[in-house]
Amino acid sequence: MLPIRLLLTLLLLILVRSAWAQPTVELTVQLNWKHQFQYAGFYAAITQGYYQQAGLKVHLRECHHPDHSFLPELADGKVQFVVSNSDLIYDALHDESIVLVANYFKRPALVFLTRADIRSPLDLNGRVIAGTKNGALDHTTLEALLRLFNIHADIRYMQPEDQPQALLAGKADAITAFTTNEPQLLAEKNAQYHLLRPELFGIDGLDVNVATSREFALRHPDIVRKFIDATNRGWQYALQNPADVIDQIMLRWNTQHKSRRALEYESLLTQAHILPDLYPIGSLNQKLLEQVAESFVAAGMADSVLPLHKAIWHENWKTTHKGELTLPFCNDPNWPPIDYTTPLGQPDGIAPEFARRLFAQFLPQYKLVHVPTATWQESLQRFSEGECKLLVEAVKTPERTKTMLFTRPYLRYPFLIVTRAGKPYVNGLASLRGKTIARQKGSALIELLRKRYPDINILETDNTQQAFLAVATEQADAALAIGPVAKNMIATAGLNTLVINGVTNLDYPIRIAVAKSEPLLLTQLNEAIVRFPPHELANIQARYTVLTERTWICRQWIAIGVGLASLLLLWFGYRSWRLKKHAEDVEEIAERDMLTGAFNRRGLERRFGHLAALASDDAPLCAMLFDLDHFKAINDTYGHTVGDAVLRKIADIVMDTIRNTDVFVRWGGEEFMILCPGMHLNEAHKFADTLRQRVQNLMRASDLPDVTISIGVAQHKPGESLRDFTQRLDKLLYQAKRNGRNRVESNLD
Ligand code: GH3
Ligand code: MG
Ligand code: MG
Repeated sequence: MLPIRLLLTLLLLILVRSAWAQPTVELTVQLNWKHQFQYAGFYAAITQGYYQQAGLKVHLRECHHPDHSFLPELADGKVQFVVSNSDLIYDALHDESIVLVANYFKRPALVFLTRADIRSPLDLNGRVIAGTKNGALDHTTLEALLRLFNIHADIRYMQPEDQPQALLAGKADAITAFTTNEPQLLAEKNAQYHLLRPELFGIDGLDVNVATSREFALRHPDIVRKFIDATNRGWQYALQNPADVIDQIMLRWNTQHKSRRALEYESLLTQAHILPDLYPIGSLNQKLLEQVAESFVAAGMADSVLPLHKAIWHENWKTTHKGELTLPFCNDPNWPPIDYTTPLGQPDGIAPEFARRLFAQFLPQYKLVHVPTATWQESLQRFSEGECKLLVEAVKTPERTKTMLFTRPYLRYPFLIVTRAGKPYVNGLASLRGKTIARQKGSALIELLRKRYPDINILETDNTQQAFLAVATEQADAALAIGPVAKNMIATAGLNTLVINGVTNLDYPIRIAVAKSEPLLLTQLNEAIVRFPPHELANIQARYTVLTERTWICRQWIAIGVGLASLLLLWFGYRSWRLKKHAEDVEEIAERDMLTGAFNRRGLERRFGHLAALASDDAPLCAMLFDLDHFKAINDTYGHTVGDAVLRKIADIVMDTIRNTDVFVRWGGEEFMILCPGMHLNEAHKFADTLRQRVQNLMRASDLPDVTISIGVAQHKPGESLRDFTQRLDKLLYQAKRNGRNRVESNLD
């Protein structure tokens, strides 16, 4: 029985971990030889969890065919990185799609291992070399050496199973070798040999280099950075703990069945090739790289060292290669002011502008190219045919997730209720029972309404404009739309008998959709969205709730052919209306905190008055204010990103715990408030304690650091201002902190 339970527990652990761990990126690294200490840093980065901590899962692929070039596989994305000798520098001089990202051996290890009587390259003239022409020899410093002495044409090559054996048996006069490896094999057999080191004859080399494709470096500079950082850490570890890494190689990677002694010998010489005291581990030293490139030029294997400079990866890769990758995108041409196409064919509105700035700031290597469409349906069609790889805004539906990837929301708007003017205020969707709501066909909202409010009638229309018209013409009682769209519609379609007359608790989260083939782009976009400055987003929104209405009106006028005079008149009318409305517009936007999705203070202020006014002795208003315990220590220990993830996770727990009617607010930093209408103080205290325990338990079960919260709970007094109420809550919260944290305090007397 025990093993099964153990297995289940493990499975559960894996599930829980994967639910909260950052998305993992899988990378395949092609090695240029079989597993041995030469790649110690890569093994250490795996066994020490450095790759995993960076969100990477790295597969190391041995090389079984030394005469096989891996550049085509790099080009078509089958492998993301290749590890090889100076041949990668040769490749970078000839093929601009190759980018060097790291170099580990600062002194070359690739040599000819020869019979003892062969002392100079000239002695090799007309001799037999064991080493595949296209493998360890081709395009390397060894070929350069033969060419420099002009003897390359007279060499005979053979390709034995076992090169050292070929030398011992006298079948070959020289073999291609790695100083950290073959000499030890021969020494064990007491064989006499000589090492022909190219650098002694004017040919410089660098070994254990890592390269990627230019395309990959451009698309995923952050992954390159993370991969190299983790690999460097791996090397650091391997150099300090060689015995440990040798154990790991013997346990997991010893495909060559090397002896511990051979691996120990390798590890000793490896130190001497990496020179960690002289050069930062993994660094690309321009001078050393140039010397190798010059060797290739001297040997007549390259025309110039110049192409090298474009092939050396650096920190600012994505800014220095601005706009080199094109990314076709589509938008909804017809949904102002969120997303539309201007009469001149330019995508415009909140979503296209947000996408433009998001890419400019965080993904400058991409150039967004608009694929024009006439309708939203056509945009979806183009997207599904792969003609555009991105939609600047889209709503996530179960059906669409089959073919699209969605970012986290970058905007959320509550659905507002639109009625004819003069109708009483609509207090939530529940008060529309028995009434008729008009909504455009195919809207994801219809499904939801049918499920949650089966006694609301739904009138399906062809588009949003018709839904609004249906309300104006009394075919329906209300329409639902998000704020900016509703305002735009009312202002531009001449529907000024309609008003926004209520708020629902339904949200409309707006996301970017990307093609299924671009999961790594999705990760980058999600990171960028989290880091996008909220105030800048608010500015974009403010600008478009004003500007686009103007453009839109222009289009309408042109369409109905109204003369210039009336255009001016209307324009002035519109302007005065706009000035009046502007203040409201700005207030309505950005009610949500982008990190957690909770309301921000503005959102709170707009709801508090209403809830306070509704409170009565029977159904009082209670609130809790909570603060994370010792949160500073989390930031200091794990960094701000983990801190942010903790805040998001706690917000998720709260949203799962509270009732539909509760209002959850990020009060500031790591302090949150929850308004609980219709709750008595003793109930609110219990509720707070439940929340406290859930946070404690769920954080413990998660992959994130353990965190607890302290809560102050109070009941609102009739007429009390938000400020006074908050001050009372704050005092109670501090009492909870003073009394030991992870507890609830309320003034229950
Ligand atoms: P305690 O409340 O239990 O007294 O201790 P504390 O360590 O939580 O103390 P304090 O309230 O002074 O620290 C709050 C910290 O929260 C400081 C600030 O850096 C961090 N913080 C505030 N907002 C954010 C945020 O958005 N993200 C992250 N990661 N940290 C934040
Ligand atoms: Mg705190
Ligand atoms: Mg605090």
